[in-house]
Amino acid sequence: MTLSANIPSLHTPIDGRHRKMLIDGAWCDARGGGRLETRNPATGAVIGTVPLAGAPDIDLAVAAARRAFDGPWSRFKPYERQLLLLRIADLIERHWEEVALSDTTDMGMPIVRTLANKTRVLGMLRFYAGMATSIHGQTIGNSLPGDIVSYTRKEAVGVVGAIIPWNAPTAASVWKIGPALATGCTIVLKPSEEAPLTPLLIGALMMEAGVPPGVVNVVTGTGAEAGAPLAAHMDVDKIVFTGSTATGQSILRASAGNMKRVSLELGGKSPVIVCADADLARAVPIAAMSVFANSGQICIAGSRLFVERPIHDEFVERVCAFAAKLRIGDGADPQTEIGPLISARQLERVAGFIEDGTSQGARLVTGGNRLTEGPLGAGNFIAPGVFSGVTDDMRIAREEIFGPVISTLPFDTLDEAVRRGNDTPYGLGAGVFTRDLGKAHQLVNRLRAGSVWVNTYHAIDPAVPFGGYKMSGYGREGGAEHLDEYLNTKGVWIRTD
Ligand code: NAD
Repeated sequence: MTLSANIPSLHTPIDGRHRKMLIDGAWCDARGGGRLETRNPATGAVIGTVPLAGAPDIDLAVAAARRAFDGPWSRFKPYERQLLLLRIADLIERHWEEVALSDTTDMGMPIVRTLANKTRVLGMLRFYAGMATSIHGQTIGNSLPGDIVSYTRKEAVGVVGAIIPWNAPTAASVWKIGPALATGCTIVLKPSEEAPLTPLLIGALMMEAGVPPGVVNVVTGTGAEAGAPLAAHMDVDKIVFTGSTATGQSILRASAGNMKRVSLELGGKSPVIVCADADLARAVPIAAMSVFANSGQICIAGSRLFVERPIHDEFVERVCAFAAKLRIGDGADPQTEIGPLISARQLERVAGFIEDGTSQGARLVTGGNRLTEGPLGAGNFIAPGVFSGVTDDMRIAREEIFGPVISTLPFDTLDEAVRRGNDTPYGLGAGVFTRDLGKAHQLVNRLRAGSVWVNTYHAIDPAVPFGGYKMSGYGREGGAEHLDEYLNTKGVWIRTD
């Protein structure tokens, strides 16, 4: 578990460790000299500091990315980019335990989960390595007089600004860097201030793999001081953003200056619909973990659990029994199933939703309490909570909580489930549990969400597009069409007579 000598040692979560950021292939501090602390959410301990970048640092990183894009990187053949991506994937695989531990320590996800993310992360890099040699335009017949050949070329969009959240730092970094490198773009990655360590480690592994200077830059800082100038930058050609809908809206506004392209992976309030004929033994753990995995800090959390009335009470009871047995603890412990929330602020926010739910008349059947005793008292822990007696207009049923809280709601007919399931400004994910194929198809077709899972949840594969409807954003990650987000199409006309 050690990195080779020429990589700055970024991976060990030691108190007070000062990390640098990556601009133009060099490790540097912020121009302004400021620093940002990052904490282990399980213990509250400061595990490192990173540069507090501002607009001048963003300018440097974008200029480096532009030079690289216009320079030697533009002469890399698709096959060379493919080999580079494969090398990056191999290197990350070799260091996977450190990468996983870094995520666990910086943002709290249980180590069993961060380790298990390996397939998803490496699969993405290798999928896009494969795609690098499949980018092609088309020869298109035209109806003009004379002999004119017309065809299209697919060209890299240019300098990409990538702004990511804290809830899956490795996956979010790689899901932006992979397609950028496959298409020949260069990238300035701005990790979340809440969990910047693993993206820096990924940057170090990029350098080790031989990524040319300026092609991948990792600039740490806050949303206001580093994210906003990146989104507004006049020399950035495209922004890929994953985060909250409110921030997505401000990024969209900031991007108007040079009309850069934008793709947005935003928040959700996903419905899970359990029909009375469902296999309950299967549905209970999947529906519960659709929210409780990563302590509810998942964009696709199935936080509105619609259950057909005849089985509602039994189902809620079983979900509560399941929730009460989950092992809560420091994510570094391999026995832990539920880790902490990212920050004390997030803990307050989630607790506020729980108070709201109770005061609006919902019944907290299990959990929802903060863990304040013993070693967990120093971290941001809250027990997985399940509400019953929720109505569609309550705040807990409408807003994204991003915490381990499920609202259960009974329904009587399929039409009603569809109408209420779709009654949200979001449209990221939806779940369906039924043994009836006809019902499954009806629900799949009628639910307005970018992904619908039937008798499963959370399935994600690099070859299958993922993204939102409505205010959950636009653009897709994964799948062949994802590459188009990083490509321009040029029409070419050549007179041959
Ligand atoms: P956030 O919007 O607060 O922050 C995300 C990133 O944006 C951070 O890097 C932050 O520094 C930056 N940022 C903040 N303000 C900015 C501004 N004005 N201009 C530019 N950048 C700015 O989100 P978060 O709290 O880090 O993450 C949780 C949110 O992310 C949830 O809403 C969740 O649903 C969403 N999310 C969506 C997906 C998806 O694929 N759809 C995946 C993961 C998380």
